[in-house]
Amino acid sequence: MGLFDKLKKDIQTASNANCPHCNALLDPALQRKKKCASCGKDIYVRTDPFKRVKILVSHDDALSIDVISMLGFTEKEYRAVAKELSHDFKTATPFIRDVVSSIIGKRQLDSFKRKDWQQAKMLYWEQARLLHQLGKDFFGVLQKSAKCELYHYQAMGIDKAEILTAGETSCSKCQSLNGEILNVTEALEAMPIPVKDCENRFCRCLYLPKT
Ligand SMILES: [Zn+2]
Ligand SMILES: [Zn+2]
Repeated sequence: MGLFDKLKKDIQTASNANCPHCNALLDPALQRKKKCASCGKDIYVRTDPFKRVKILVSHDDALSIDVISMLGFTEKEYRAVAKELSHDFKTATPFIRDVVSSIIGKRQLDSFKRKDWQQAKMLYWEQARLLHQLGKDFFGVLQKSAKCELYHYQAMGIDKAEILTAGETSCSKCQSLNGEILNVTEALEAMPIPVKDCENRFCRCLYLPKT
């Protein structure tokens, strides 16, 4: 038993697809986000990352599935962690987002062991983005992502870093930092980015190596 047993059931009934919230029958040709006519909740269309078939899911599950695809989690990895969580939480089907965070945590430990700061940075960044999209507190995780970038520069023997903002879409607070050059050790202490009160909420500023 597990998440993908439920997904499998959804797939089996794909010719008469059901709402992930209320199980109401839906137009099987549903191609993109739609409100369920029966319960009014949003239904998202995604591709099952392991089975490569179309599935209908909730908002939170859709975002979590995007991370699975983005970070290339394997079905084996997913099943193993889902099994652990279902034991810990005493539930047959742990939330996809919980399985995803747990896999991210395991991969982070692995990247620390290997001192693979770039991998750690990417994992923190995806985790922060998921938390942000789920409406949860993400700032501390996003900061860790920036730290790993700086650790990576240190490991490469790069002493200076330059702040790069996300261009025209960035807010005035972020833009005022654009082009600033800092010592990597200084940056690790001051942590000027990510910007806490970024007007876009999720600051997309990053460091470039300055050689
Ligand atoms: Zn519904
Ligand atoms: Zn900003």
